[in-house]
Amino acid sequence: MITVEEAQQRILESMVHYQPRPVTVSLAEAVGRVLAQAVVSDLDIPPFDNSSMDGFALLSSAVIDAKADHPVDLEVAATISAGHPLSDLSIAPHQCYRIMTGAPVPKGVDSVIQVEWTEPHGDWVRITRPVPPGLNIRYKGSDIADQTEVLTPGTVLTPALIGIMATLGRTHCAVFRRPSIAIVSTGDELVDPSLTPGPGQIRNSNAYALYAAVLQAGGDPVLIPHAPDDLHLIIERLNDAARYDLILSSGGVSVGDFDLVKTALQQHGTQNFWRVNMKPGKPVAFGHYRDTPFFGLPGNPVSALVTFELFVRPMIRQMQGDFRWPRLVLQLPLLEDFTEVADRRHYVRCQIRRDSLGALGVIPSPDQGSAIQTSWLQADGLMVIPEHTGPWLRGATVAVMLLHS
Ligand code: AMP
Ligand code: MG
Repeated sequence: MITVEEAQQRILESMVHYQPRPVTVSLAEAVGRVLAQAVVSDLDIPPFDNSSMDGFALLSSAVIDAKADHPVDLEVAATISAGHPLSDLSIAPHQCYRIMTGAPVPKGVDSVIQVEWTEPHGDWVRITRPVPPGLNIRYKGSDIADQTEVLTPGTVLTPALIGIMATLGRTHCAVFRRPSIAIVSTGDELVDPSLTPGPGQIRNSNAYALYAAVLQAGGDPVLIPHAPDDLHLIIERLNDAARYDLILSSGGVSVGDFDLVKTALQQHGTQNFWRVNMKPGKPVAFGHYRDTPFFGLPGNPVSALVTFELFVRPMIRQMQGDFRWPRLVLQLPLLEDFTEVADRRHYVRCQIRRDSLGALGVIPSPDQGSAIQTSWLQADGLMVIPEHTGPWLRGATVAVMLLHS
């Protein structure tokens, strides 16, 4: 059985020739997308020297000797507000400007003293302390210089980065197309969540959980009607699913008599691997169905989502040009014993909490069964427990992969 790392390696190697296609979107639709083209500034930001405070713009040399018992009084020559630059006006050293945050700092002054440090009296202001040159001035180009490559391809667009593009005058940007992901669930026992299950039946939760997981990973999910455990019908559904960029099936990849998804893959595709040394999720399969990349995820709901997290999400991210997909892994102390010993790598749903002294630690969800959907409740991450280790006692340090990083 291969390791998780080898499986990940094989998946990513299988797509070295995949070329994500750029599409143009408006800034309003760009959040979470992956940038396909560098963004280079064609101006200085800020575009002019401006004040970072409401106060008085003055020549620092005029107040160099100012003290509480030796104040310097300056005459206010004009008021400058944001959006209203002064037409060339010069002032004498005993004069200053009243200036607002964001207003252009005129030539002839070299610093701004905030209003809180002054004593204004009508057309005069009393200064009781010296100020260094440059105080409270945001210089032209100090944030972004003209012709700087500010954003590189592969960057995931956040609200802040969309703000930068707007500042630079972009209304649209090139991002990588979302891959389309077909979701096929299999099993005679499954009914749609809208229906009341009959004897021996359960509701199909994987289709919807995987749909949501695909959306969160940036893919474009498509639900294919569910397939019963019938080879011909499974093949029919998979043929339909093969029109998309990637196929995710759930169920039917284990060793039961009716686990026919693997058979369909062997007949109409190529199997790259089947079974990974992990818990939950051991029966996961990967390959190509016809020419389309294919994941056969296990049917147990927890196994389906854990294998999605470890194998499918990285692929969907890379299909969009995002190579910075690995989750943050923290080393944290256990706040409770974790006594289960597994011969496979164990991915344990867990919560990150504070101990009585306020230090962060980790608490495993109580029941780690692969069908226990409530083990995800309030889960922040997956504790990664190496195979053949344990029991792990309170205080021991464990690796935790953060699910929302
Ligand atoms: P399988 O991998 O097909 O052997 O299924 C393993 C377990 O997962 C069985 O208990 C199934 O009933 C359950 N299961 C399979 N598919 C789904 C699904 N789409 N939603 C919820 N449970 C499922
Ligand atoms: Mg099944």
